[in-house]
Amino acid sequence: MPLPSYQIVLASNELISPNVRKLTFEFSKPQSFSYRPGQFVSFSLPYGEKPLKRSYSIANLETPDEQGLVTTDYLEIVISHVANGRATKIFFEAKAGDSFEISGPVGLLVLGAELPKRIFLIGTGTGMAPYRAMLNQLPKLTEQQFHILFGAQKQQDMFYLDDFWQAHQAKNIQFHPCLSRQIDNFSFDCYQGYVQQQLVELKPDPETDLVYLCGNPNMVDEVFAMLKDKGFGVKQVKREKYVFSKF
Ligand SMILES: Cc1cc2nc3c(=O)[nH]c(=O)nc-3n(C[C@H](O)[C@H](O)[C@H](O)COP(=O)(O)OP(=O)(O)OC[C@H]3O[C@@H](n4cnc5c(N)ncnc54)[C@H](O)[C@@H]3O)c2cc1C
Repeated sequence: MPLPSYQIVLASNELISPNVRKLTFEFSKPQSFSYRPGQFVSFSLPYGEKPLKRSYSIANLETPDEQGLVTTDYLEIVISHVANGRATKIFFEAKAGDSFEISGPVGLLVLGAELPKRIFLIGTGTGMAPYRAMLNQLPKLTEQQFHILFGAQKQQDMFYLDDFWQAHQAKNIQFHPCLSRQIDNFSFDCYQGYVQQQLVELKPDPETDLVYLCGNPNMVDEVFAMLKDKGFGVKQVKREKYVFSKF
């Protein structure tokens, strides 16, 4: 069955780091939309004879109902700049009032009903969007301990930091920013290195842990291979790779 489609209108388009823009849309037809934090939507972008189909994670920070569902009237996404990227050009140049068509929501990178004791939410760059969408859910899951690992090259490449630090104040959430290419002038405590290295220091254990991975396909594959070596099964590592589209 085809996924429902929606008409949305761009409300704002803001640069939030040197390479990332945050786009906020309002739903125009129909006027509301339901999703589970962690899911993504697919844009159908006019492009010559055949529209471009591009996926983007829902970054909205809202509170789901008891079934884990959010009903909303807006959509927030974050897009990183890809050199010569076709969708990148469209989104980076889009103006308030421009109309778009999306379908969805899609995706299994969501928090399930049965969760183990310790959960790692690991992302690089815009791969943090699904975890930002989960931030209001996590403090309520008091039986679980969450470790959020945000990988970027430099502090200037990070965004949504206020939201992640705010979440870090909850007893069951720890935020670990990891910077791979900055050696000093930090304005907060951070790990110097890759998310992969920070994860090793937190001693992932297949007996107690579930790992979510999102973003750069190389990072996702590398961490997954490492976890497999440590005895993690496929169901203990949920993966969302931001793979490029063929067209
Ligand atoms: C499930 C899913 C969720 C996604 N969510 C997000 C999201 O929330 N935010 C986000 O920014 N992106 C996300 N993506 C990636 C996004 O869908 C597009 O692939 C991306 O925006 C590039 O599209 P484009 O049309 O601009 O580039 P294209 O025109 O498709 O590519 C142009 C050239 O750049 C290369 N290329 C494409 N992407 C990259 C890249 N990332 N790095 C280096 N080279 C590249 C291509 O091989 C090609 O040579 C997601 C992808 C998937 C599958």
